[in-house]
Amino acid sequence: MPRFLDVACPNESCSLFGIAGKGNVTVYGTYQINSGKMRKYVCHTCGTKYALASVQDHQEGI
Ligand SMILES: [Zn+2]
Repeated sequence: MPRFLDVACPNESCSLFGIAGKGNVTVYGTYQINSGKMRKYVCHTCGTKYALASVQDHQEGI
């Protein structure tokens, strides 16, 4: 499990907005959608929770 994610916080008022790889964003769950899998993220700097489609760079499950 990766601890550091290349995901940036989407909250414009967050001090780490748009900055990836700081370790402030972690995954706290996943769920399935029609076109793939979504991951739920939380930013520990501002507390924002959000979901993004997981990046499929390994072509698994296609
Ligand atoms: Zn944030």
